[in-house]
Amino acid sequence: MRGFFFAHMGWLYVKKHPEVIRAGKELDFSDLHEDPVVMFQKKLDPFFTLYMCFVFPAQIAVKFWGESFWPAFFVAGALRYMLVLHFTWLVNSAAHLYGDHPYDVVSYPSENPYVSFFAVGEGWHNWHHKYPFDYAASEFGISSQFNPSKLFIDMLAAVGLVWGRKRGTAAWDMGRTRRDRDRAAGVPLPKPAPRPWEVANTTAIKQD
Ligand SMILES: [Zn+2]
Repeated sequence: MRGFFFAHMGWLYVKKHPEVIRAGKELDFSDLHEDPVVMFQKKLDPFFTLYMCFVFPAQIAVKFWGESFWPAFFVAGALRYMLVLHFTWLVNSAAHLYGDHPYDVVSYPSENPYVSFFAVGEGWHNWHHKYPFDYAASEFGISSQFNPSKLFIDMLAAVGLVWGRKRGTAAWDMGRTRRDRDRAAGVPLPKPAPRPWEVANTTAIKQD
């Protein structure tokens, strides 16, 4: 439970480790600095962001269906923001704990359809950690896995706003062939080490 909380939102309450700050300074953001849209947003930060997050959704509700401002501000702005945050954080917490591990049996991140639903396709997380360069963050497209994010990127690609999409499917073809061959030869799948909480549970039971 403590681990779930830390992965979910606890990490935001702790100060960054000096190593993290140091490593962050080495990251290359030159492509973002060259992007006029990103720089425009950065220049107006934080007021433009705050406006778009809280005030603008309220104004939509006021204008288009006659909602009064403050209820719209708190529901369409604040409540919506809180829900979206938690749905996003579920990728870091729930999708690292609960689900299947078809692509990499020893890694924690898992395929979690519930998280995928709430995080618009970000919960196919075993795949994402196995093939982090894959823009789709899932093996399949919208026809067999709920992934509107991939669909959105594909639509932008169709109108020329996105290019160079990388996929992990070729790598997985080889990985799957290897797995099936091993399986046919009677080689068992690698067993993941017991999760820390499983270990903690057994010691707790032993102590009783
Ligand atoms: Zn992850």
